[in-house]
Amino acid sequence: MRATRQDCFAGTPDVLKDERRQQTVIRVLGIEVGGEDFVTMAGPCSVETESQLMATADHVRRCGARILRGGAFKPRSSPYSFQGHGLKGLRMLARARAEYGLAIVTEVMSECDVPMVAEYADILQIGSRSMENFSLLEAAARSGRPVLLKRGMAATVTEMLQSAQLILENGNPNVILCERGIRTFETSMRNTFDAAAIALLKQISHLPVIADPSHAAGYRDLVPSLARIAVAAGADGLLVEVHPDPDQAWSDGEQSLDFVEFQTMMVSLEPYLSLRSSVRSTSMDAELTEVGG
Ligand code: PEP
Ligand code: MN
Repeated sequence: MRATRQDCFAGTPDVLKDERRQQTVIRVLGIEVGGEDFVTMAGPCSVETESQLMATADHVRRCGARILRGGAFKPRSSPYSFQGHGLKGLRMLARARAEYGLAIVTEVMSECDVPMVAEYADILQIGSRSMENFSLLEAAARSGRPVLLKRGMAATVTEMLQSAQLILENGNPNVILCERGIRTFETSMRNTFDAAAIALLKQISHLPVIADPSHAAGYRDLVPSLARIAVAAGADGLLVEVHPDPDQAWSDGEQSLDFVEFQTMMVSLEPYLSLRSSVRSTSMDAELTEVGG
């Protein structure tokens, strides 16, 4: 017999919407993820140099981003590629926060590094390759920092929710789910952007859901379209790679937007975001009508 939708999510009760929990709103440095505002997190794939990071932070903030991303620990296909600056990178991120008032999201790859990364970051990113590293998830949960959980590149929605459930069970209610594309038979993009997963997650889970159009697309000219699709699918925000000179980037240059491209994308999102606000207020009116009878 075919498993029903309920069967798929039976093992993850804490992440599902119920009467008590309709929407989790995560507050970091005065920013609310999962609330009314659409939150853009942007920055370079890797923290490279002070000038690269500062220039990017300044630019993305001017364009409306509220959170700065940047990897100090980098999961790479080859162990001989740049692995990130580690602590030096974390310190650069903290200086960018002090200078520009952006919150910081950065990846933690190892359980041992959790206390150090949590000391500098406002949000801990669990990368796609680590979604099923359960001891890392437990350590990240116990740090008390909000956790941005990326979908594994071969993970089902159910498996992603199981990882989120584990974080909640370890005493941390602040999980942001991130759709970043999955591996399929399609090879003309780096990954296949699963917009349906965003719509489904928004329907069933109270956790905030964001999209990473950069890793989904793999090519910068596709990123703005996927970002617009994410807004239409109901995402609470975006995680986007931006670099002052993408062709010289130390990682993921092909999918990173330059400053003009990022600005253009942010402007192009505006009509979709106003539509989002009106759709959200209409559905809230409907809920209120229902409650009020
Ligand atoms: C990243 O955000 O730079 C990254 C490595 O992402 P993912 O884990 O989705 O591949
Ligand atoms: Mn990257």
